[in-house]
Amino acid sequence: MADVLRVQWTIIPRTAPQPWLTCSRCGEARRFRSSDRIRVNANGKRVDAWLIYKCTGCGSTWNRPILERRPVRSIDPGFLMSLNTSEAMLTRRLAFDVEALRRSAGRVEECDDALVTRTVLSQGTTPTRQLEILCSVPEPVGLRVDRLLANELHLSRSRIQQLAKTGDLVAFPQGPNLRRPVRDGMRLVLNLAGHS
Ligand SMILES: [Zn+2]
Repeated sequence: MADVLRVQWTIIPRTAPQPWLTCSRCGEARRFRSSDRIRVNANGKRVDAWLIYKCTGCGSTWNRPILERRPVRSIDPGFLMSLNTSEAMLTRRLAFDVEALRRSAGRVEECDDALVTRTVLSQGTTPTRQLEILCSVPEPVGLRVDRLLANELHLSRSRIQQLAKTGDLVAFPQGPNLRRPVRDGMRLVLNLAGHS
């Protein structure tokens, strides 16, 4: 259609998911944050490695297992080097691996601060009547769809909910629930006819 504006929003979280753990020093459940440091312990032919998290209340540490008693010969030397140097791309990849974090920590909070980069994919020649947003989300983010749209389109969240109610805003594939976090491949279609 000539009156459709197609854009891609690339959504990159700024803060890695944070586990909630009982902190023995604080005496209660606290959010822990990745320190981006990896501790490696080579004991003979076996290697253990942990990503170190810190309590946001008191700084106490929690060691998240990355490798447990792994034979050193089974580890790729490049990977071992990255572990030993707490290489930044590796610590980021591990910190954003929310499923693996959940397996070790249980309750995990995904953060909603994210950097959104917009790219126009195609633009019609006539005035735009429909906006299609393709969401690219390479790493999991806790940013809700309604908050994302409100931030980026400078609309109130109640306005966003209203547009969804009237069918002028549709999210694919998950339907009209805009309170869930945005996911990779999600497509948001906004009817602009009659709105400006
Ligand atoms: Zn603490």
